[in-house]
Amino acid sequence: MNYNSTRDSSCKVTAAQAIAQGISHEGGLFVPETLPVLTREDLQAMVGMSYNEKAKAVLSRFLTDFTKEELDYCVDSAYNDRKFDSANISELAKVGDSAYLLELWHGPTCAFKDMALQLLPYLMTTSARKTAPDKEIVVLVATSGDTGKAALEGFADVPHTRMLVFYPENGVSEMQKLQMTTQTGGNVSVCAIKGNFDDAQSGVKKIFTDPVIEAELAKNGQMFSSANSINWGRLVPQIVYYVAAYTSLVEQGEIELGETVNVTVPTGNFGNILAAYYAKLMGLPIGKLICASNKNKVLTDFIRTGTYDRNRDFYTTTSPSMDILISSNLERLLYQLCGKDDSVIRQWFGALAEKGCYSVSDSVREKLQAEFWGGFCDDEGTSSAIHHTFGEYGYLCDTHTAVAVKVYEDYVRETGDKTKCIIASTASPYKFCASVLPAITDEEIPSDPFEQAAMLERLSGMTPPASLMELKSKPVRFTDSVSREQMVDKVTEMLKA
Ligand SMILES: *Cc1c(COP(=O)(O)O)cnc(C)c1O
Repeated sequence: MNYNSTRDSSCKVTAAQAIAQGISHEGGLFVPETLPVLTREDLQAMVGMSYNEKAKAVLSRFLTDFTKEELDYCVDSAYNDRKFDSANISELAKVGDSAYLLELWHGPTCAFKDMALQLLPYLMTTSARKTAPDKEIVVLVATSGDTGKAALEGFADVPHTRMLVFYPENGVSEMQKLQMTTQTGGNVSVCAIKGNFDDAQSGVKKIFTDPVIEAELAKNGQMFSSANSINWGRLVPQIVYYVAAYTSLVEQGEIELGETVNVTVPTGNFGNILAAYYAKLMGLPIGKLICASNKNKVLTDFIRTGTYDRNRDFYTTTSPSMDILISSNLERLLYQLCGKDDSVIRQWFGALAEKGCYSVSDSVREKLQAEFWGGFCDDEGTSSAIHHTFGEYGYLCDTHTAVAVKVYEDYVRETGDKTKCIIASTASPYKFCASVLPAITDEEIPSDPFEQAAMLERLSGMTPPASLMELKSKPVRFTDSVSREQMVDKVTEMLKA
């Protein structure tokens, strides 16, 4: 199987090249030339398999240039009981009659990013061995909070790699910040930027395609890659868990094989929900894809009107990992919906870069609305969703998951569609204690994040993840903070180190 670039359909690379390189030279994203098909028989065969077996069955269809031994090594190194506190890697929790929360946060950093970022370092080093054997891979990451830590955890001390993470100084939770600034590993570095996630992301994207820096890298025997969801190696592991969850629901007798389910995803960069859409295109019986946003509702507006307009106020919310106005992976969706017309993509994303705005054609808007439903929820709605999910079902969800729960409820109310639904649960509530606690108690909330965690444990009876509690005794290693303009210097400094 080959991969094309969304901005140059004539560009054709292998999976290994796509993953090692991260982003295409002209700034486009790599997409599979054709999507592999999962037949009813394929799905039937997966019923009863372990998560790792399901992962291999899906990944082998995309990574056709990986040998069986390579894929076994990558998958089994990523998903195991040393890294995940669930034998099934992800868990399903039923709430109410027709909703299933797909818990994707049982990995080392307690957010769904681990599902892809535990695997990515293995995919990337295997890919680099095939395509650029003598190079050191320099991974730059822009994070809205969870990607940074998950990437650090995945890449720390991985030979032939180096990593620099940029996070928005005032845009992450206390626990998220501590997770990153205490990270160990000789090959990793972390830096705050004075700006928001979009600033970090555009800064990193610009550095990636800067010819001067690229020449400098080549001189040092280094090459850039990306651990953000612009990298195909981030998306493909996410397709796996939708297939795994669906077949698990069949195993548990909750659905019949072939029965349609909807999927709701709390969305920021559009990576997670795009993976569900790809799973649908492959043949997984998915009905509506419900895209849940917080107050930064650029995607809700886009799905409803066909106009994407980032010229609006940016809000800092209680679901910081979704505080994003430029959702990178939308480019992959639109490439698919417009019949793989790279010139249209260049035009729309050129307009986005220049004017911050573009409108898709009527036919693309209609296709978009046939597949997706968009809704949003502010901080108050988030808090009330946490409150009533806890009160009614005894289930404690984090702020991001709560956005999805609220939007799913709005969807059912507005459309009357009671199809069973998988709701992506993307983080442990312990990552966002300061926002979760006020939703379930009137007691005064302590300011120390570890006292908050103790309080949450007392009120919920849910055990806090050990990896978060350990942060209390870890020394802070990274305290730098730079402006957007200084990001280049920071990268150059790291390359020399
Ligand atoms: C990253 C993240 C999201 C958004 O996922 P995208 O793939 O960027 O749309 C949602 N919730 C949490 C907890 C996250 O870390």
